[in-house]
Amino acid sequence: MAAALGDPVRHALESVLEAVRDRTDGAVATYIPELATVDPEQLGVALASTHGVVHEAGDVEAEFTIQSVSKPFVFALAVDALGLDVVRRHTDLEPSGEPFNAISLDEASGRPRNPMINAGAIVMSSLMKGDTADEKFAVVRDGLERFVGHDLVVDEEVFGSEASTGDRNRALAYLARSAGTLGSTAEVATTAYFRQCSLIVTARDLAIMAVTLATGGVNPVTDERVVSEDAARWTTAVMTSCGMYDESGDWMVRVGLPAKSGVGGGIAAVQPGQFGIGTFSPRLDHRGNSVRGVASLELLSQRHGLHMLQHHGPPLSPIASLTREDSGDTIAVLRGEILFSEAEEVLTRLAPLVGDHGCLVLDFSGVTRVGDGAKRVFVAAPELVGQAPDGRARVAVRDPEGVLGD
Ligand code: GLU
Repeated sequence: MAAALGDPVRHALESVLEAVRDRTDGAVATYIPELATVDPEQLGVALASTHGVVHEAGDVEAEFTIQSVSKPFVFALAVDALGLDVVRRHTDLEPSGEPFNAISLDEASGRPRNPMINAGAIVMSSLMKGDTADEKFAVVRDGLERFVGHDLVVDEEVFGSEASTGDRNRALAYLARSAGTLGSTAEVATTAYFRQCSLIVTARDLAIMAVTLATGGVNPVTDERVVSEDAARWTTAVMTSCGMYDESGDWMVRVGLPAKSGVGGGIAAVQPGQFGIGTFSPRLDHRGNSVRGVASLELLSQRHGLHMLQHHGPPLSPIASLTREDSGDTIAVLRGEILFSEAEEVLTRLAPLVGDHGCLVLDFSGVTRVGDGAKRVFVAAPELVGQAPDGRARVAVRDPEGVLGD
């Protein structure tokens, strides 16, 4: 669903693009020769909400190769298919603080430091189902297509360019293979990986891929579940610590959005539970991050309070009203979304109201959702509080919508 014209979020995105447009520092990647041919002036940003609305500004339809922005999504496919324990036998999940193409394998275990640098990403591609590069790449492409919500095409020029100059990546694959962490031959792994990096996307695509992680693995445009909630959370966690090459720590402080950049000029950023952002601008800083993409996300985060650790002030109380009835019972009407901390507030504030006579009735009719962690707290409560002298439970629950489940 596209956002309406005159959309204020689009206006905010346009304003950010105007503010960063005069940043002409940095340079397009040249180590993959074909990447050097792109128009460096292109600049676009898209923000996709968890309701599947996409707000766009600038060159959102401009096509570029996904490159390393593919890495978290292929990691997500790997953990979704194989589970975290199996994947962790093939890669560590630690920030390396090293450049993307570092010869980075743990000396003792032979594992790459994390799946966001080339060594780890090549290992992830090698773990895809199938024996040949074509089979493994088909699994990758199918998975990334579900993240994006449409078919994806390989830029054969970029693929050819990368395949003919990618000996450093082949070296990484051979090292991983000799250490026993690669799931295929080096040639199969790197061919699948080069094709994966050469898939053509837009800033809009990256926003939708990112929001699919933000929603816990469901693409909100197609409504298709792409990966499990666990896989989406693990992936966002790895993006948080390792997504921006050797700038990840600084990035988290300044911008505070789990993100992944690629040398094609794209960045995908996730605000868990809220939205995904895709940016595209080809000139890179010395670490390989898009100069204007980084500047845009930093400005957006500052202007609109998007840092994931931002303190937003005291939350609205989950207790909407308290009524003492003639019977001696107290009715507590609850509201909104109740997660662990709201459950803690409800039970701590209301516990003194559980008297010798009368019961505390927790009315969930105004509650939209109760998180699993909160449910566990509520389920334990009646038993802990025990029974009133008349034999009734001291804490009773009214749950007409069944938000507490069984
Ligand atoms: N295909 C690129 C490479 O392996 C990806 C690098 C990147 O985007 O960080 O060198």
